[in-house]
Amino acid sequence: MRWEGNRESSNVDDMRDSGGGGGFGFGGRSIGIGTIVIALVGGAIFGINPLTILSVLSGGSPAPTAQQGPAKAPPADDRMAKFVSTVLADTEDVWKQVFAQGGATYKEPRLVLFRGAVGTACGTGQSAMGPFYCPGDHKVYLDTTFFEELDQRFGAPGDFAQAYVVAHEVGHHVQNLLGLSDRVHRARERAGEGEGNQLSVRLELQADCYAGVWGHYAAQHDLLDPGDAEEGLRAAASIGDDRLQRQTQGRVVPESFTHGSSEQRVSWLRRGLESGQIDSCDTFAAR
Ligand SMILES: [Zn+2]
Repeated sequence: MRWEGNRESSNVDDMRDSGGGGGFGFGGRSIGIGTIVIALVGGAIFGINPLTILSVLSGGSPAPTAQQGPAKAPPADDRMAKFVSTVLADTEDVWKQVFAQGGATYKEPRLVLFRGAVGTACGTGQSAMGPFYCPGDHKVYLDTTFFEELDQRFGAPGDFAQAYVVAHEVGHHVQNLLGLSDRVHRARERAGEGEGNQLSVRLELQADCYAGVWGHYAAQHDLLDPGDAEEGLRAAASIGDDRLQRQTQGRVVPESFTHGSSEQRVSWLRRGLESGQIDSCDTFAAR
């Protein structure tokens, strides 16, 4: 990507050395709702099942944050933070424009860089969950060591693969603003487990498509190098539920998918990339 020198977002909070660290979550006071989240999603990769977060959120109180220091801006010489801030800034520009075209106003999310564990309105977030979005506080949570995992464990290296991860989480924020997360949550309360997973998959695939919509405009902003789109598509393929299940449990159980198969993730990301239209991302209407 050709990101250097572009605008950086001021919506990035650096909590990497604010007492969250590895120790957070083990103190008596931070046990509670956060523990439930960990129990339900421990080991999940790249995004907790969003419905898990939503259901915890709807019944719970905010997680304690007393043990955390104040958030601050990342240091200016931190290249990774600079990259994330620049990608976030471009998502702000794109979504502001897309919302304005639809006569709406885009409310920017914040992005929290953390290490180990972090208190959120959705409970205690853990690095092991992968990056995630909390609808309760409108924040994307990212431990950038996930990018190493994306490269080494999932075989998806490259800066555009990383940008796709950020854009996917921002996609969940867009869904939240559009009221989609809420609607899915209500539908899920009436549904059985299998159907609930189906709804989760549709929500995730839509976030992939929204990431693609961002990518479409990022290309127009001259941010992409040749091969970047393919890099993103490769990343989407590498974190499909079927591929992950084959890797971790040796067999594939489609009923338990929560994010979609590799093929589905690739196809919805591609759809957004090619069209640049959120209307093309109606995963709920698709068969
Ligand atoms: Zn997601």
